[in-house]
Amino acid sequence: MKVNLHPNTAPATDADRAAKIAEGGFGKYYTDNMVVAEWSLENGWSDAELKPYGPLTLDPATAVFHYGQEIFEGMKAYIQPDGSISLFRPQANAERFARSAARLALPEMPTDFFVKTIEELVKQDRAWVPGKVGESLYLRPFMIATEVGLGVRPSNKAMYLLIATPASAYFNAAKAVTVWISTEYVRAAPGGTGEAKCGGNYAASLVAQRQAAEQGCDQVVWLDANERRWIEEMGGMNLYFIKGSGKDATVVTPKLTGTLLPGITRDSILSVAADLGYKVEETMISIDDWRDGVASGEITEIFACGTAAVVSAVGAAKSAHGTWTTGDGNPGPITQQIRETLLGIQHGTIADTRGWNVKVC
Ligand SMILES: *Cc1c(COP(=O)(O)O)cnc(C)c1O
Repeated sequence: MKVNLHPNTAPATDADRAAKIAEGGFGKYYTDNMVVAEWSLENGWSDAELKPYGPLTLDPATAVFHYGQEIFEGMKAYIQPDGSISLFRPQANAERFARSAARLALPEMPTDFFVKTIEELVKQDRAWVPGKVGESLYLRPFMIATEVGLGVRPSNKAMYLLIATPASAYFNAAKAVTVWISTEYVRAAPGGTGEAKCGGNYAASLVAQRQAAEQGCDQVVWLDANERRWIEEMGGMNLYFIKGSGKDATVVTPKLTGTLLPGITRDSILSVAADLGYKVEETMISIDDWRDGVASGEITEIFACGTAAVVSAVGAAKSAHGTWTTGDGNPGPITQQIRETLLGIQHGTIADTRGWNVKVC
């Protein structure tokens, strides 16, 4: 399977593109091109087409509109000090995309084909990759069920698409986010789709996100479905808790139980924190552990992590059980150290000892 190139013959002018990149933000402007590939049960995957970014025309009875059979990924391309452009662990995204596809009864895309589409779009639209630390080109691969008809069954047609948007820093790194721990809504339940990166998980989360905003909080924190006791994630990001301080600190993250999304940033931080000399632990953390740990001072810092924001400090937590604030409510030193180390590896200013960066062009 290859990627046929039919790029935009009227791309944005240099001035237009520069103005859009300089505006910053996330997801407002898209690059000149996109990639599309189609799959059918009879014929498997078609070649992919790289073509001008633009709207789709789909029959109103297309399956995805009715039953939400959709998955996506999120990954970034970063400018390196020598001016080249690298992807961060694209194979990990490709593998997770295939696992998400399997869970949503969508076709698994060969991982090499997936990575190839990413590389071709980044090469074509490389002028759109912003240059400062913390900035990147955010890539959004996704797949939708495209069989036409209202019968409820796995679609026998699917479409893969890839779009890209220049991204500046997602949250303000200098400020900790406040969180609302929801005891009413859950994100994922055992046997459900929590491990898959699918739009449906997000659709179901929005009402809780709105509730968090009504409570004056930036983000929602999810508890497990069975006991409403175990900390799972924050919005669309994984969580880390730091116990103790200095060289003796332990960096702890909720263990993957099957209802958490296995973040690639989470996985990378397990290695980065160990390299920095901290003890790392994957374990169950309860809402009581959070409250008591903050009260006793054992928990000194909390942060959330994911591709979009990379690392974001968590300050005050509010819930039906009360409000408690970690440390002085500002981003702590270990959070900042881990953030800077990971960003340094991604931007090529700190040695990449694991071959995580894959040079594209
Ligand atoms: C994408 C996502 C994450 C973070 O995953 P990364 O691979 O680090 O970007 C965490 N939680 C949820 C629910 C997600 O959808």
